Amino acid sequence: MTGAFSVHTARRTDFVEITSQVQQALSRSGAYDGALVVFVPHTTAAVTINENADPSVIRDMAQALDRMIPWDDPAYTHSEGNSAAHLKSSLVGCSQTILFSAGKLELGTWQGIFLCEFDGPRTRQVKVRNIG
Ligand code: ZN
Repeated sequence: MTGAFSVHTARRTDFVEITSQVQQALSRSGAYDGALVVFVPHTTAAVTINENADPSVIRDMAQALDRMIPWDDPAYTHSEGNSAAHLKSSLVGCSQTILFSAGKLELGTWQGIFLCEFDGPRTRQVKVRNIG
């Protein structure tokens, strides 16, 4: 089973929750038990799983990444000028593996799946594939 969907981001750094789209892709597939890979084919975006109940968690994460990896740094050599976004993409990672059972993602009570934008606003692709 393979699914894909687009996500529009609104800011340079933007975390967009995609839990419902991933669950919809899983439901459409009819797969029952297994593991799902959620993958973003981008070098300046990422995907992570963290708390979706209190939006301050994601806000703090985005701000901490901005402090650790500032947009402007005279040491950067990449001519496109978006080295910070590339660094954050590799640090967070471009995929997550999520178990599912009885056709439902086995996320914890407070867990949500987020597309992490680091060089937006843009339209990003998310690919979902059952590997189990
Ligand atoms: Zn670049």
